[in-house]
Amino acid sequence: MANANDVAGGATGPVIATLKERADGETRVALSPETAKKLIALGATVRVESGAGLNAAITDEAYREAGAQVGDLAATIAGADWVFGVQAPDVALLSGAKAGARVAAVFDPFRDRALTDAYAAAGYEALAMELMPRITRAQSMDVLSSQSNLSGYKAVIASANTYGRAFPMMMTAAGTVQAARVFVMGVGVAGLQAIATAKRLGAQVSATDVRSATKEQIKSLGAKPIFVEKVAGIEGEGSGGYATEMSDEYKAAQAELVSSHIAKQDIVITTALIPGRAAPRLITDTQIATMKPGSVIFDLAVAQGGNVEGSVPDQTVEKHGVKIIGFSNTPAHLAADASALFARNLFNFVSAFWDKEAGGPVLDEEIGNAIRLTQGGKIVHERLLG
Ligand code: NAD
Repeated sequence: MANANDVAGGATGPVIATLKERADGETRVALSPETAKKLIALGATVRVESGAGLNAAITDEAYREAGAQVGDLAATIAGADWVFGVQAPDVALLSGAKAGARVAAVFDPFRDRALTDAYAAAGYEALAMELMPRITRAQSMDVLSSQSNLSGYKAVIASANTYGRAFPMMMTAAGTVQAARVFVMGVGVAGLQAIATAKRLGAQVSATDVRSATKEQIKSLGAKPIFVEKVAGIEGEGSGGYATEMSDEYKAAQAELVSSHIAKQDIVITTALIPGRAAPRLITDTQIATMKPGSVIFDLAVAQGGNVEGSVPDQTVEKHGVKIIGFSNTPAHLAADASALFARNLFNFVSAFWDKEAGGPVLDEEIGNAIRLTQGGKIVHERLLG
């Protein structure tokens, strides 16, 4: 006989399915027991593929206790109206979902166009969570922010672990240990958390960005701002808070500033990104050569092309006695917290649009058009059409 917590238990309300992530090194999951419970309270039927949460320390049993139905892939996807993912699943995995089913996940359409094209061809509605607009009401749905914050923390912890010295100053009977000097380049969500974490560990912290608005934020965390003064950077917050490509004049001034500062640093954390483009190069091999042997550079942008010359994802590269590290998927190194926050972002997204009469989420234009890549068998996102 069917147990209510088996997939065969039937469906009321829209079916929301969460699959096991299949990308290499992906440890996160897009549903937590907490969000499963909340989705069910809204009226959804929540299904999850068996084993989907194991890498994030969530058992099938924990999902069942929350009221979700746990089953194999075919049973989980059968008749799904919505599919939740961290990284968007291959189209082949969606076979059996309802025609036009909506998939909310990270699609990376500007780097992986083939996946989006396949979604269009199969008639699914791809909703790219990383394109969530940076407006106040969407803050709680912003997966880039929730994951970057954890990445900034992890970059400091991994650097501290690789560094052959201590972070805080220690006065001991055997002598004094000097505080580590940490320089954070790029002060967005990840950079701010990196500054805060390095401060908590007792380091002397300095930081830089192209956006002048970050100067006050750096100071408020007790760190020292290091800024290009002779060429104007980006005043205010920039477009949606994001940076753009800088002029050659600015880049030259920045390189000069960085060269003189970096030679005195023990740890450098780089986090600079420009949406839709390769990461800007911030540190050259010549600059690395000026650093002290034993120093550590963590390149948080390594998977987007890298801020640091010579960095390789998931490898420790040693150049001029300096260790250069960086992960291809930093939040995956904090799977439990990263999953809990990612799952909450997805819940906040669908619950904000939940329409009782329609029996599920109905997106509005501002957010719907910003994140919808495909619909009705076509590519519909304006940045993919041009
Ligand atoms: P990001 O990941 O795109 O980039 C990281 C940082 O790198 C940014 O601060 C950027 O200015 C900086 N950078 C780019 N090129 C650089 C260069 N050549 N040299 C030095 N630094 C460089 O940025 P992010 O973390 O996503 O956040 C950017 C801003 O958006 C922040 O101010 C954040 O507070 C804001 N934000 C707003 C919302 C919202 O309102 N909903 C949500 C998230 C973030």
